[in-house]
Amino acid sequence: MTVTDDTATISRPNIAPRQLFIDGQWRESFGGGRTDIIDPSTGTVLTSAADGVPRDIDDAVAAARAAFDDGRWSGLPGRERARILHKVGDIIRERADELVATESADVGKPVSICRAADVIIIAEQYEYCAAIAQTLGGSNRETPLNAHAYTSREPLGVVGAITPFNFPLILSSSKIAPALAAGNTVVHKPAEDTPLSALLMSEILTEAGVPPGVLNVVTGKGSTIGEALLQHRDVNKIAFTGSTDIGRHAASVAGQHLIPITLELGGNAAHILFEDADVEKSIEAIIKGFVVNTGQFCMGGPRLLVARPLYEAVLAILGQAVPGIPLGDPFDPATVIGPMAADKHVRKVEEYVELARSEGGRIVTGGRRPDLTGTPYSGGSFYSPTVIADLENSSRVVQEEIFGPVLTVQPFDTESEAIAMANSTEYGLAAGLQTTDVARAHSVAAQLQAGIVWVNDWALLDPAIPFGGVKNSGFGREYGPEALDPYTKTKSVVIALA
Ligand code: NAD
Repeated sequence: MTVTDDTATISRPNIAPRQLFIDGQWRESFGGGRTDIIDPSTGTVLTSAADGVPRDIDDAVAAARAAFDDGRWSGLPGRERARILHKVGDIIRERADELVATESADVGKPVSICRAADVIIIAEQYEYCAAIAQTLGGSNRETPLNAHAYTSREPLGVVGAITPFNFPLILSSSKIAPALAAGNTVVHKPAEDTPLSALLMSEILTEAGVPPGVLNVVTGKGSTIGEALLQHRDVNKIAFTGSTDIGRHAASVAGQHLIPITLELGGNAAHILFEDADVEKSIEAIIKGFVVNTGQFCMGGPRLLVARPLYEAVLAILGQAVPGIPLGDPFDPATVIGPMAADKHVRKVEEYVELARSEGGRIVTGGRRPDLTGTPYSGGSFYSPTVIADLENSSRVVQEEIFGPVLTVQPFDTESEAIAMANSTEYGLAAGLQTTDVARAHSVAAQLQAGIVWVNDWALLDPAIPFGGVKNSGFGREYGPEALDPYTKTKSVVIALA
């Protein structure tokens, strides 16, 4: 985990109350309501955002439809869209500190990590999609028909993008960049608790030259405006990242409307530590896997499976190392673990840890809120990184997605048992293993049910490398050249030659 002092000068921002961004204009919601946005490190009000209502969604979809239909974006040559999306990347880099300050204040992310990871990844994501936009096209098809046949790739139309609270910048860019690169227009509904960076990004896209109506951002509740976006008959595709339950509902609505949907849903990855692993290096990856983003990471590694001969030794090392991870003010460049994004998430973690205790789980370290009495962070939503041993594989604490800084540790005896345990949950987003045996790395990676498998590290993410789920973690892939596929449709043209 890179912690640098590049962030020493980033301080808490003063953020003016934010409005909706529709058709290139900032305005209040038709309902007039506002929602306080809480700084999770202190529990105090950071700013407020407009509370959108379904009529705002109607307005945003109408703007996106008009912008699509008149070709102001879809009609541009791919190279021109690429030029503008490249400029988005440039402005992200220029305004990086502002983006980091906004995201860190809103979500509680440590500035050092947000600067080194989130902001760089989104700049590269726009640049990567810009490169694809330049070459997006069809191909000639060899055919025995007496005909000239070729394909073209066309955008879908209006994309409804719905994103979760935990990685607002990364997860909105992973939809908006490919959608725009392919020539679509977008209505974005960010999470209600953490909408601020989405609004800042709409400023950046406008500054880069994205025309009015091409990107619209409506903030507010999932149950009202998220639902209104899902149900809108003029939306041509849904790109959803969030929980498996809401994703299942979104898929059923898309099914009714017969529109395509991509679903990036929950995760509960296993991290397997084999006896032949480099243990010291593995411990770094294990800790990274469960504390990154304070455990609010769909692709985190919250289930550690350890070869039995190493079990007690690994628990002892974790028991020593984990309490020393710097926790606190996300604006302190040394901080590695910030608060959770809202107190309701801490309460959910507390319930799971209580359940673990009642089931005989051994709390190796953590298991409580840290004592921050007397500091400015006493009202913040912090939870100490927690390691729990000895739970049965059938325990809900092992099987369900906790989505907090909690690691369960279980021993295994054989490679096949480890693989069976790793594959035993409903999820299949990520998985990982630690081994020095290359043959084992390939063989086990092939048997793990997951969209991405890391070997000898964790969370190596890059816009060139696709990720996505299997099983109840969803379907569709983001990142990589595959990223644009869900945002285009193929048309065949066949011209008879006689
Ligand atoms: P969530 O499902 O509660 O909310 C996700 C988004 O859906 C939010 O914008 C929310 O307002 C909206 N929403 C809620 N109800 C809706 C409805 N009826 N109709 C339309 N939209 C609605 O998820 P969350 O708590 O924000 O995020 C955490 C979850 O997201 C975890 O399960 C995590 O694993 C998952 N996640 C997955 C990935 C991935 O890439 N697979 C990435 C990040 C998070």
